[in-house]
Amino acid sequence: MRGGAKVTFERHRHEGVFVAKGKDDALATKNMDPGNSVYGEKRITVEEGETKTEYRVWNPFRSKLAAAIVSGVENIYVKPGSKLMYLGAASGTTVSHCSDLVGPEGIVYAVEFSHRSGLDLINVAKRRTNVIPIIEDARQPQKYRMLCGMVDVLFADVAQPDQARILELNARNFLKNGGHFVISIKANCIDSTAPAEAVFQAEIDKLKTMSFKPLEYVTLEPYERDHAVVTGIYRPSKDGKEASTSSKKAEKTEEKEETMEEGA
Ligand code: SAM
Repeated sequence: MRGGAKVTFERHRHEGVFVAKGKDDALATKNMDPGNSVYGEKRITVEEGETKTEYRVWNPFRSKLAAAIVSGVENIYVKPGSKLMYLGAASGTTVSHCSDLVGPEGIVYAVEFSHRSGLDLINVAKRRTNVIPIIEDARQPQKYRMLCGMVDVLFADVAQPDQARILELNARNFLKNGGHFVISIKANCIDSTAPAEAVFQAEIDKLKTMSFKPLEYVTLEPYERDHAVVTGIYRPSKDGKEASTSSKKAEKTEEKEETMEEGA
């Protein structure tokens, strides 16, 4: 997208996300840290009377959440005021847009175990008061239990074979009952021999055994090859254990309304 002067911004149907309308359309978020870019992304300022608003272009080739939006996902659940836990924060590229999205009333707990990426993440957090960087292994949520409150949304992009289990461990500790999850699945991280669609379906089935009710999935072509994003709701049983087969059967009628059908 070229030049600020001819660009106008419209609200996207996902609250907190904007569309920059110019020569080409682009996704954007309102910059929580005006005057600064995080990863070299373009900033555009719009003046309306006395008010100046700065937006940051959000590139779907750099962010799986942006790719999911452009691919038409129904709901990302992350919105102004959300409390979000983000697993696999890396240097904070997508985290920074989530920080814009949740705004000053929201919070982003950003978990990353690589110390190298963690340094960049900490620098992002220094400029954004709603980002709490946590440089720990997401397989050990007890290590950051004291730093975090309960969250509305749990996002995972750890690209690990046991990522469903990592999601569950963190959901048990931090995701409120009825909260939502968003997980990015990179097929060849889980099984490099099976077709991507089969891997996505197997992961969805795994999530269903873990108190997660997947609602939707989108594939991320052409932005990311053999990647999908799955979203859904978290409904742990009252004793905190995974739903048993019989209780899952009991819930079947209710779930029919809200859970993604097999093979959808
Ligand atoms: N979500 C990032 C973005 O859009 O900017 C990219 C994430 S990258 C695909 C995966 C990240 O997960 C890597 O930075 C990796 O170090 C991190 N990671 C992998 N396993 C992890 C674990 N067990 N705990 C915390 N971070 C982990």
